[in-house]
Amino acid sequence: MIVFDLQCRDGGETFEAWFRSSADYDEQRAAGLVQCPVCRSANIEKAPMAPRVPRKGSSNSLAKLAALQAEMLKGSRWVGDEFTDTARAMHGGEIALEQVHGNATLEQAKSLAEDGIPVAPLPLPVTPPSQVN
Ligand SMILES: [Zn+2]
Repeated sequence: MIVFDLQCRDGGETFEAWFRSSADYDEQRAAGLVQCPVCRSANIEKAPMAPRVPRKGSSNSLAKLAALQAEMLKGSRWVGDEFTDTARAMHGGEIALEQVHGNATLEQAKSLAEDGIPVAPLPLPVTPPSQVN
């Protein structure tokens, strides 16, 4: 699928339309099937193109992932190297349950999982708050 910025020659409106291919656009336009959404004119041409700036978080998958992670960590407390101990203490009822994130080695994560403590790896590395300037 490709998107074209189209312009109505009658009213001057610009709009976006999706097509399977450039040839598909040509065919539909020739058949009068491409119409202005405002005035229904089929007198349509491709609008002058401007460089497309990627919309925030829409095209960059890393940015998407980062946004997702930020959402996941909202209200989560960074516990750094205390992660394993904190997770165990919460699991054992020694301290109140809360959302935390921190460092754990693969071994530590495995042993937590074996003890029935759910841990999930984060998609991206986290910068500890103490290291953020
Ligand atoms: Zn129009």
